[in-house]
Amino acid sequence: MTRTRRQTVFAGLDQPGTWPRTPRALRPERLELGLDSLPGVAAATQRKLGRLGLATVRDVLEHRPRRYETAADEVAVASLREGEEVVVTGRVLNVEKRPLRGRRRTRIVARVDDGTAAVSVTWFNQPWLADRLKPGTEVRLRGKLGRWGFEPRSYDIGETNATADFAPVYPAAEEIAAATVRRVVDTALPLAVHVPDPLPAELREREGLALKRDALAAVHRPRDLDEAETGRQRLAFEELLVLQIGIARRVAERERTLAPALGEPGELIRRYREALPFALTPYQEQALREVDGDLARTVPMQRLLQGDVGSGKTVVALYALLRAVESGRQGALMAPTETLAEQHFLTIADLCLELGVTCALLTSSSGKREREAAHGADIVVGTHALIQAGFELRDLAVAVVDEQHRFGVEQRSALVAAGGSASGAGSSAGSPRLRRGDLPRTAPHVLHMTATPIPRTLALTVYGDLAVSEIAKPPASRKPVITSWITEDRASEAYTRLARLLREGRQAYVVCPLIEASETSLARAAEEEAERLRRAELREFRVGCVHGRLKAAERRDLMARFKARELDVLVATTVIEVGVDVPNATVMIVQEADRFGLAQLHQLRGRVGRGAEQSYCLLVSRAKEELTESAHSRLQALCETSDGFELAEVDLELRGGGALLGTRQSGLSDLHFAHLRRDRDLLERARAVAADVGPGLLQDAAAALFAEVEPEALA
Ligand code: ADP
Ligand code: MG
Repeated sequence: MTRTRRQTVFAGLDQPGTWPRTPRALRPERLELGLDSLPGVAAATQRKLGRLGLATVRDVLEHRPRRYETAADEVAVASLREGEEVVVTGRVLNVEKRPLRGRRRTRIVARVDDGTAAVSVTWFNQPWLADRLKPGTEVRLRGKLGRWGFEPRSYDIGETNATADFAPVYPAAEEIAAATVRRVVDTALPLAVHVPDPLPAELREREGLALKRDALAAVHRPRDLDEAETGRQRLAFEELLVLQIGIARRVAERERTLAPALGEPGELIRRYREALPFALTPYQEQALREVDGDLARTVPMQRLLQGDVGSGKTVVALYALLRAVESGRQGALMAPTETLAEQHFLTIADLCLELGVTCALLTSSSGKREREAAHGADIVVGTHALIQAGFELRDLAVAVVDEQHRFGVEQRSALVAAGGSASGAGSSAGSPRLRRGDLPRTAPHVLHMTATPIPRTLALTVYGDLAVSEIAKPPASRKPVITSWITEDRASEAYTRLARLLREGRQAYVVCPLIEASETSLARAAEEEAERLRRAELREFRVGCVHGRLKAAERRDLMARFKARELDVLVATTVIEVGVDVPNATVMIVQEADRFGLAQLHQLRGRVGRGAEQSYCLLVSRAKEELTESAHSRLQALCETSDGFELAEVDLELRGGGALLGTRQSGLSDLHFAHLRRDRDLLERARAVAADVGPGLLQDAAAALFAEVEPEALA
């Protein structure tokens, strides 16, 4: 068998030999068939694959191998030794199908001769192979000599498949043998000829891109590792291009949208700066300049303000809101939870009063009168109630979205549309998009804030349409939180330390375990824990309890009392995860910390370390033997660093980008082949291509692409 190493440049994926060059008829609908349409996939296998998210032929074709086996030595049949993984090449002498005793399983046994000797080769449960192993057929097998003769783990028969070497290794799953996944992919692979290429021929030619189906073949059946990587890059490029085209469309749409130009900062801003009890950091100043630059234009601002928890984003947010007020219009601050909205309101209200600016809180529990007040207020702080039907702002010019990754894309675009009502253009949430030739849409300026540090590739992938401001360092006065990790059996030590700090006048949070249960049972668990602590470890202290089941007024009252030091300890569910700002609270105990995600723990920890005092975070986990490897790494990482970016990198490594941002809104769930960390160059290239293709080509060529993608990923 000749096995020439083909040159594989990015463009150079050619079709494996025996594939039909052009299928008689492209039948893409076959890709949508369930896996039971493939030979030899039993119902049980189908169910297990379904649990891995593999339901259709397409899913299987897009299942990316995690790695490839390294090449094994090629040996003569005569010198085969038991147990060694090797490659042998020979011809089939004869083949037999034998039933296996008992069960309905089969065994295919072929005699294979390579000129030095013959060996029996056994395949289990692949009866269809019998037809392919005709006498005289050349085979290349990789496997071991064992109980049943030579047992191939991967193989080429004739020219049909690419190779026995570099067999793909798919992500491990407990329930299903890796070999089974490989076999199913193998069976599905011939159907890849029906994969349509969403990229127009012209673009493929210009960019030197292989056909999609050839790239898929290369990824699953590479002749060498270069070929596998080239194929992966072709597929990754397409994925990144789809995202980038979506971004380019959003940018183009925005350029056709009008926002009120706010001019230069004036008197109100001057008074605001004077009223602040501290000097702004250079990062904050820089962010303000960037915001000013955006607000001076008639194109709506779409800026991402990125800064770790406690870095001081609120100051920037309020600045942007006041710029709107100064121009006689409204500013709105939208937070993902009621607690956070209330916190923001408490933080902002005093300052607003001092400046003579009216400020209102709007949540879904707000009554008629509160709604009316909010309608006319200079600044409205609220939850998504702000963008719900039935509520309209008077004249929204600047919107700030806090922890924006927690909102769905629809909610974000509804906010953008909310500005339309201000100008009388009549567009509001849910209104149809304007077609070309209609009056330009209007939209408010929007500042998105996030405390989830986003690695650069990820930012370009998902937020490529947003300008980015970064608060890279917190105010200098802040000391990093000292974090330690102990196991449950030593939890009493944690409470002893806590009691000592409380006696010194500090305040603390105790975060209850994250159980997979309803809001109601979470609330009950928190209440019970608070009650237990009141009777036991924290007898001498005033303990409050907040959770998602409290009425808004009760919760507001509790938070205000905690802030006023009328409570020493707040037992809480993750409702305190974001935004709560009580500088005197310097201790946090997180129970069963191993149940929380890395980003979530980092967010939680951000609730302490907000004042000048040294703060502590105690992570209490279950016994070490009970922890997964990943939980171990998370807790370790938290103790080692308080740098959000470093933790985000760890998280990206442990979980992937989708999890980091929430797949729902990020479009990242569509990335199977793209590697956010490695594909920086590809990403830049996809960006260039997306920016380059004119709107015309974009419309036509992208139509096919977009048809395949969840619209929300591109909204
Ligand atoms: P986050 O970025 O998490 O929203 P905040 O805006 O809530 O952070 O700020 C955290 C704390 O730091 C607040 O108590 C705030 O008053 C304080 N702060 C903000 N900017 C400065 C600064 N330049 N100097 C000192 N303290 C600051
Ligand atoms: Mg904040």
